[in-house]
Amino acid sequence: MKLTDKLTEPAMKAIADKVLNHIPVNREDALFMLATGNILDLGAIASHIRETFHQKKTYYGVNMNLNYTNVCELRCPLCAFSCDQGDKKAFILSMDDVEERVTEAKKEGIDEIHIVGGLHPGLTIEYFETLLKTIRHIIPDVHIVAFTAVEYDYFATVNNLPLKDVFERLIHAGVNALPGGGAEIFNPEIRRIIAPNKISGDRWLEVMRTAHDMGLRTNATMLYNHRETNEDIVDHLFRLRSLQEETNGFKTFVPLQFHDENTAVQSKRKSSGYDDVRIYAASRIILHNIPHIKALWMYLGEKMAQVLQWFGVDDIGATYRNEKVVHAAGAKTPDFGSEAFLIRLVENAGFRPVRAAADYQERSSGTLYTMKGHLP
Ligand code: SF4
Repeated sequence: MKLTDKLTEPAMKAIADKVLNHIPVNREDALFMLATGNILDLGAIASHIRETFHQKKTYYGVNMNLNYTNVCELRCPLCAFSCDQGDKKAFILSMDDVEERVTEAKKEGIDEIHIVGGLHPGLTIEYFETLLKTIRHIIPDVHIVAFTAVEYDYFATVNNLPLKDVFERLIHAGVNALPGGGAEIFNPEIRRIIAPNKISGDRWLEVMRTAHDMGLRTNATMLYNHRETNEDIVDHLFRLRSLQEETNGFKTFVPLQFHDENTAVQSKRKSSGYDDVRIYAASRIILHNIPHIKALWMYLGEKMAQVLQWFGVDDIGATYRNEKVVHAAGAKTPDFGSEAFLIRLVENAGFRPVRAAADYQERSSGTLYTMKGHLP
């Protein structure tokens, strides 16, 4: 059946017509989609785009998270993970710690390492070069997704280096791709409340533009469920879409639902399951030029991660391994998922699971991955 014949509402048919004719939707369409009660029409359009890109494939990763320090100069109100130097819970990973963790994860067969941390003034670029080289030495072909735009900007400042030199050195040491963190929401008024010391949205986009120019492919995120309005969401998505038109460097967009426990920000906008569905599906439709939409099962829970695959999502995140950042903010999901769990999650939703790293190249270890001490 033709897409437009599946739809019940004229305004949705008009949006579907644009999609079918490769015309980007406009701001008015975007606001309409974010407020609609007609999520079935919305889902049909988002699914059409998802299927055009990926058919019934849903990607998942087998990875580990490595947070090298929780000490952070910025102490953003939105953050439940960071602390000050000298705090009882402060840590910095030594290279022995890194070696031990990565060696353990190697035995269990990971494909990817995801590295982010706080902005610690005492950690110079040499620390990060050594960290990356240590990992590369232990698992030469592991896919390393490392450091947010906020961290790259900070490394440039602390080391008094041009941003391009920072990228060059860290690519040389082993970085393959960037996660998309630190984008939060671009509206400066809200940034002033949730992350006043963080780089601006303009600067975040500029760092990403540089990363793309250097040949790196990256994620992009958007933090929602705090103070944002639908206009802020649309503004955020359209700015990402514009940069993508220039660079084509974003491979994945990841909406992140904010959890406010243990943070200094009180959510004024508690999103419902309906909001989640609208945000993911509308993102799929608005960001027609970004191939993947990721819903992190660990943020949203297993069932919502299943539902969202029918609303444009083609990537459900990864196994992780002692995830710390979202759990510090009160996520109630487990901090690890076995490969068998992720396969079940995808198959039970009616899709075909594909194990891949952040480059979306299919991987297979022959055996299903689980972490020591956990059930398959
Ligand atoms: S969100 Fe990032 S930059 Fe902000 S305090 Fe936490 S670790 Fe630091």
